[in-house]
Amino acid sequence: MLWLTAAGRCSPRLRSADRLVLDFGGFDPQSVKGFLSSGDGALLYRYGLKAAAAGPLLEVGAYCGRSACYLGAAARDAGSRLYSVDHHQGSEEHQPGWEWHDAELWNAAAGRLDTLPVFLRTIRHAGLEGCVTPVVARSRDAARNWRTPLALVFIDGGHSMQAALADWRGWAGHVAPDGYLLIHDVHPVPGDGGRPPMEIYRRAIASGLFEPAERQEALIALRRVT
Ligand code: MG
Repeated sequence: MLWLTAAGRCSPRLRSADRLVLDFGGFDPQSVKGFLSSGDGALLYRYGLKAAAAGPLLEVGAYCGRSACYLGAAARDAGSRLYSVDHHQGSEEHQPGWEWHDAELWNAAAGRLDTLPVFLRTIRHAGLEGCVTPVVARSRDAARNWRTPLALVFIDGGHSMQAALADWRGWAGHVAPDGYLLIHDVHPVPGDGGRPPMEIYRRAIASGLFEPAERQEALIALRRVT
């Protein structure tokens, strides 16, 4: 059991045998717009902490910063860093007229969705500005020029097949041996969610590079084996 304080200290406290409780000193990551459950957030934190000694962490798809709170806290507590990649213009499903459009995130002056101001505010309120680096870029552009082995990659980007495959192709090779690849929104039952995250999970297993490590709700953790 670990409690995180606003000051950034991390102290273990026993509360129950199997639950991780994250406390940001009054700031609740679940108050941030987003789609990640607190249980999935705790799993991100746990894997981030476990992996971080091997290098930095990276997430693809930041939105308003909810997942960055959990991974950023892991980076902070392990003395590492989280790189958070997003163009901050919203995925396909966030655009006007689509199911997950949020009018509050519309930047009228720019004439497009703009999640960057909210993301930066989230990181500031969570006390994580010192260990989270926003990379404002398309996933494929950032991946193409990336050179540092990563201890953990969390793919939670666009849900079109094109976007999901670009995330897999762009980032899987950057995961260090024994590092972790986590994929969000993997729904084994058709109809429970979009197929592209499930498709990249299948490709990860078929590649022989990764083996399943853990599954929780729609979040899957894979370990790089070669
Ligand atoms: Mg997601």
